[in-house]
Amino acid sequence: MCHAFLTDTNFYQLLTRIDESIAEEVSERGCDCGGVLHSARYPRKPRGIRSALDSNYESRLSFCCSQDGCRRRSTPASVRFLGRKVYLGVIVVLITALQHGLTEPRRRQLIEELEVAPQTLWRWRRWWRERFVQSRCWKALAGHLIPPIGADSLPASLLERLQAETLVERLVELLVLISPVTTSSSSLRESLDPQKL
Ligand SMILES: [Zn+2]
Repeated sequence: MCHAFLTDTNFYQLLTRIDESIAEEVSERGCDCGGVLHSARYPRKPRGIRSALDSNYESRLSFCCSQDGCRRRSTPASVRFLGRKVYLGVIVVLITALQHGLTEPRRRQLIEELEVAPQTLWRWRRWWRERFVQSRCWKALAGHLIPPIGADSLPASLLERLQAETLVERLVELLVLISPVTTSSSSLRESLDPQKL
């Protein structure tokens, strides 16, 4: 594998810790109704890389209001799970970003190693071009990018713009920046329905 961090347990543990701290804030805030939030995780079975993932990757952090008559869900933003995609966000970002960077044989090798089907790849590209660019998250982000970056070369264009030195640091930064699109509380819930990804 040409990107060593993809098989590094520490890398995935770091992402778990970021998700946990985002979830902690959500939990402390409580439900809009004033109710206390209880843990109600969603089961997950991420594909592509299993050996480096611990049991934390078998579920996505989520909460349910404990108040009778409310029971509302609060699902914190995640740097690990991009909606209900069966691949982790880092894989989706990396493979779609590499179109602009890696040589074709190396990119193909990575796609093969991660067992990503061509239709899946096509859907991911379309998601960046059509759904992500419509999100409130992207619109807010794009306003801060001077000079503006090309939405048609996302996520590579965003990855290149970030300041961190290593690719892995920039990936983590990017996952944090786009994590608002992974929450269910977004008013764009419909257009970003993870089921369609
Ligand atoms: Zn509530």
